[in-house]
Amino acid sequence: MNHRRKFLKILTHFGISTPFISKAFTQSSSKRRTPVAELPLIICSRGELWGQKVLQPAWQTLQSTGSILDAVETGANVVELDPDDTSVGYGGLPNEEGIVSLDASIMYGPTHNCGSVAGLEKIKTPCSVARLVMERTDHMMLAGEGALRFAKAHGFKEEDLLTEKARLIWLEWKENLSDKDDWFPPADGQYLPRKRTTGTINVLGIDAEGNVAGITTTSGLFGKIPGRIGDSPIIGAGLFVDNRVGAAGATGRGEEVIRTCGSFYVVEKMLQGMTPQEACEAACQRIVEINGGLDQGDYDDKFVAVNNKGEVGCASIRGYEGRHPYVSVISKNGFQEIKGTALTWQD
Ligand code: ASP
Repeated sequence: MNHRRKFLKILTHFGISTPFISKAFTQSSSKRRTPVAELPLIICSRGELWGQKVLQPAWQTLQSTGSILDAVETGANVVELDPDDTSVGYGGLPNEEGIVSLDASIMYGPTHNCGSVAGLEKIKTPCSVARLVMERTDHMMLAGEGALRFAKAHGFKEEDLLTEKARLIWLEWKENLSDKDDWFPPADGQYLPRKRTTGTINVLGIDAEGNVAGITTTSGLFGKIPGRIGDSPIIGAGLFVDNRVGAAGATGRGEEVIRTCGSFYVVEKMLQGMTPQEACEAACQRIVEINGGLDQGDYDDKFVAVNNKGEVGCASIRGYEGRHPYVSVISKNGFQEIKGTALTWQD
């Protein structure tokens, strides 16, 4: 039985009528056919709280430098440097061994050039190192030790990225992993369910002339096997921009995004005429399809996208922390938080 048929059969088995997916997504797509903002605009893959923190300085940078690339970098740096965010940069949750290992990518539409770093340790702002890979080397991706040496050659300071907050979360996770190892559970003796925290941020922008730029930056999956690289530093997976149409970025379980070339898929769908909203939803559906259904495995992913008409899209497979996914937008019309759609979450 092919995947599509197996998928439909599973939906039916769980009492879900087959038009469920297209119905859930189609209704909300049509609402977002109108442009949400005039160019220039910058979006970020989070709701109001982080949206304001990221987009206000990004917007100020765009006003003062006129550079959309500087603007998205300024915005991404805010989260990277903030120890309160446990999924990006400094303060990010570590890998299985308690080491914070960062992935980031950057792409610039006018040149179609890009740069990324993977498995970078000890540097708080990996997206700025990715930008230097793009602008100061003939390569596109540096990983691990080499990426660190490259960052240091450019004057970045080595720092301990594991905050006390992140260490305690990691320790609790480690002690709760199994009752068959030598790590005792925390004092109350309770083994907690093993929860995989996700995060990441996409910051995407288009200037008044239609020039597109984007960044994706993350500390990756919490508790990952050392050496694991996610989708975020892989151009076409965690990030893709094309000056002919716009930009897209992904968050969530990177393995699914890698095997569907998620952000490239969204941008290609926009090139073929889909709105950003329709394209984000199509990418989510693709992931569900290749998995053989919503109930096949513990995967969740979210896409955000923007096109050069000022239209914005946001869709996720599952509701994020029990609610809809959100995307934030800033333009000369001001700041807006926009509710996206989720396949498994409707209200
Ligand atoms: N996409 C990131 C990764 O797989 C994680 C996340 O977005 O939560 O590394």
